[in-house]
Amino acid sequence: MTEKHTTIQFKAVDFDPFTGPEIVRVVAAIEPQTEIWASCKIGGDDANRAYNESVSLKLTGKVDFQAFELALEALVQKHESLRAIFSADGQKMCILADIQVNLVFKNLTSITPANQKLVLEDYCQHDALLPYNLENGPLFRTAFFQLNSNEFYFVFSAHHIICDGWSLGVILQDLSSFYNAIISGDTPDTNCAVDFCSYAVAQWRFADSDEYKPIGRYWLGKFQGSLPELQLPLDLPRPPQRTYKSRREDFKLNPELTSGIKSLGKKVGCSFVTTLICTFEVFLHRLTGQNDIVIGVPAAGQSAEGLTALVGHCVNLLPIRSACDGSQRFIDRLQDRRGEILDDYEHQQFTFGTLLKKLNIARNTSLVPLVPFVLNLDMGLDNGVKFNGIKHQLTYNPRAFENFEIFLNLSGDDSDLVLEWSYNTQLFKSAGIKRMMDEFTYLLENVIQNPEVLIKDLPLKGQNELITKLQHWNSDTHAAYQREKPLQYFISATASQNPDKVAVKYLDQKYSFKQIEESSDKFTYLLAEMGIGRGAVVGIAMDRCAEIVIYMLGVLKAGAAYLPIDPEHPAGRISYMLKDSGTALVVTSNHYSNIVPGGLPVLFQEDIAERIKAISNTPPQIPVTGEDLAYILYTSGSTGMPKGVKIRHRNLVNVLLSMQKAPGISVYDSFLAITTVAFDISVLELFLPLITGAELVIASSAIVRDGRLLIDLIRKERITVMQATPSMWGILLDAGLDRTLNIKMLCGGEPLLKDLAEKLLICTRSLWNVYGPTETTIWSTIKHITSRDNIITIGNPVDNTSIYILDELMHPVNIGVVGQIYIGGDGVGAGYVNNDEQTLQRFIPDPFVNDATQKMYKTGDLGKFLENGEIVCLGRADQQIKIRGYRIEPEEIEAQLLLIDGVKDTVVVAKDNRLVAYVVATIEQPEPLTQQWKQQLALVLPRYMIPDDFIYLERIPLTPNGKKDRLALAGLQ
Ligand code: AMP
Repeated sequence: MTEKHTTIQFKAVDFDPFTGPEIVRVVAAIEPQTEIWASCKIGGDDANRAYNESVSLKLTGKVDFQAFELALEALVQKHESLRAIFSADGQKMCILADIQVNLVFKNLTSITPANQKLVLEDYCQHDALLPYNLENGPLFRTAFFQLNSNEFYFVFSAHHIICDGWSLGVILQDLSSFYNAIISGDTPDTNCAVDFCSYAVAQWRFADSDEYKPIGRYWLGKFQGSLPELQLPLDLPRPPQRTYKSRREDFKLNPELTSGIKSLGKKVGCSFVTTLICTFEVFLHRLTGQNDIVIGVPAAGQSAEGLTALVGHCVNLLPIRSACDGSQRFIDRLQDRRGEILDDYEHQQFTFGTLLKKLNIARNTSLVPLVPFVLNLDMGLDNGVKFNGIKHQLTYNPRAFENFEIFLNLSGDDSDLVLEWSYNTQLFKSAGIKRMMDEFTYLLENVIQNPEVLIKDLPLKGQNELITKLQHWNSDTHAAYQREKPLQYFISATASQNPDKVAVKYLDQKYSFKQIEESSDKFTYLLAEMGIGRGAVVGIAMDRCAEIVIYMLGVLKAGAAYLPIDPEHPAGRISYMLKDSGTALVVTSNHYSNIVPGGLPVLFQEDIAERIKAISNTPPQIPVTGEDLAYILYTSGSTGMPKGVKIRHRNLVNVLLSMQKAPGISVYDSFLAITTVAFDISVLELFLPLITGAELVIASSAIVRDGRLLIDLIRKERITVMQATPSMWGILLDAGLDRTLNIKMLCGGEPLLKDLAEKLLICTRSLWNVYGPTETTIWSTIKHITSRDNIITIGNPVDNTSIYILDELMHPVNIGVVGQIYIGGDGVGAGYVNNDEQTLQRFIPDPFVNDATQKMYKTGDLGKFLENGEIVCLGRADQQIKIRGYRIEPEEIEAQLLLIDGVKDTVVVAKDNRLVAYVVATIEQPEPLTQQWKQQLALVLPRYMIPDDFIYLERIPLTPNGKKDRLALAGLQ
């Protein structure tokens, strides 16, 4: 093949208002056209290419090339869209009197069929890469190849701005009838009953009419409130900037399935199209785990308006939205959807672009707005195509660029349905698309076989495989340990091996392991004297000090649980926690005597040393097991009051033993404890070194507040391991943390961002991202982060821990699909204090194990599995906020604000690493308004939230609609 197909092109048609081709009509481009025009301008050539529409006809028989060319010319004469170009601002469509069709004939008869195939593929690929010049035209291209004396190949391509799927059918149909006329010596009838310009004018008129208004209301009504965002299971990380490069995979559907779909639809009076749309909705719901599903379905404006012979861009993209209810039978859903989908079609005269504008959807640079998934039904497109004496075979040519994440075109006919998946190659891989097709076929087989099946019971093909994978990943974490033993058993064992080694350091104070053991034993006796025994709760409210470890251990040895209290918390909160937990005694210092409500027994730190002096050294023999509670930790509660999480000894022992192995700690390590006792991660800081025989260095409150002092301490004490939130590591970096310290860093409590990880990796080779809620005992997953990690994951579960990612029906979601993280295994705590309702809601039976008593915890975190089993944490499914490591339920603060006189409504959100309370108030407040309210807030909120940089209040006008949209206020949408 010597000639290059690139020579197959039209003669240039220069557009010059003075000398250029004659313009016979000008009409205001309709809105979908201006949308396309704008998108081509914004997205450049790649976006332009994404609008290429192309089909091929393989013709078998004797074809007269001259007649074919004449038929093509007649076609261009008949349909003015084929003679259209656009004004420089995209606002006007101009129809030229004539466009010369230069259909170049390519004779490929001298090359082998294999080479012919290559040439044709090459042409189509090249054609798909050629953008159209919207201002100069022409906006279509054709090519004609002879393969042998009896076989020909015709390619027709056009820009979507003047053509759509329906039009392609009309074009091919007219082409065949004109060809037949010319061959028989007749003149083709190029009269056009309706031309595109008249259609466009009618569209504009309609948009101004009263009839149009209810249609607008119909669609706006469907998209009120928060907008859904379909999260297809991507194979690749989403690039920050939207891209268009695409590829296509075609799959034939087994004809039995096609007829199965038809008979299924017939059962409830549903058309084939409606049945398909409904099946795809259910498929996407099962695939993504999302209930709120939107599918883009292009609808042909020609058929809606009875203009069946019209060529042009008449397509309306319908964002068909529905809520999928897993408890519904598939057949019932189909019946319900019949009327609803029909209704959508009947309201199709509303353009998608207008809807986006009215909904104020910001054009996100990385996302396709509202309809990442489009289902196009172009079946039977060549039904009216008939060349006399010639057989034809139609092919849709793939695009090289695509506007949507997935554009699924159904082509062919009933006996030969082809599913053409065009997908964005920067989001999906061919294997992922094949998996989706397999899943869809599997779902079809299932609904056809059993239409009564509940949607939630529809099996996913990959699910069994996934459950096996999950079980494998999770069972990999199995590690034997003495689960019946309490924490003190492990500490005593270590202490007996290292009696004289320094266990705890605080400022100038030092305690050896032996001293810690003996003092805590004595303290247990003192507690017993005060009536504290197994099952009691003892509050510990004091500043950071060495003795705090002794008191906690003493409480544990007594069989009681300790309740850590940050004395910085407001008195109201503290007294609530003491009462709610049934605390029998509070250990505190004279300094904080006022925080303990009257009537509650108190042990003052200042008196303890004196009181235990006379007590014998014999270890107490109180039987404590792994099932006893070790501590109760209060976290922010969405009901307005904090909630107490109950953690057993075995929960704690399991995680500590696991962390001892990885990240790993040895007797030679020095662990710096910096976290307030009000957070559970402090438990790890205090006890991990103690069960290991390592040295625990407790930083004073003053030092913890100053990054530079902390670094000095790290250096002075030769600290080798430290745990902190990302915010705290950020502070330390700012204060001069560097590689000379080379400590093992545990980072958790908040997402570790790549940027921070990179900076930390300059300072250490041992960086660990740790993840877990208080309810599942400190940390539940762990990941060693290295510079090779492109994505920061939270890694894999710690020992004896299972992680499940489930959809709303509690089915495991596929790899790559976002779901909610559930945690099972030995870390799962014993529930909330005095709160059966929330305990039942969050601590639910683990359906993946054969033990009905085993619970898993519903975290409220969103996540997804990667192919290698690592987990990516993707934020919250609920309102919970983390600011600088502090876990806050905004409802808790909102409830307190609502107690203030005159406050009608409020929404608390996180913004720029601060809390913002938007307040609707009816009364005027004296200035400075926020100051007065902050004082009020101080009565109920922890002191750390009050500083100006942590919370601020903003007044918003009273709205009749009540609550403001939380996400909108957070600036997330
Ligand atoms: P808390 O109960 O205070 O430990 O807070 C637990 C919550 O903090 C989790 O449910 C997550 O939302 C968040 N979290 C903890 N660690 C991480 C982490 N490494 N990455 C992302 N989020 C985290």
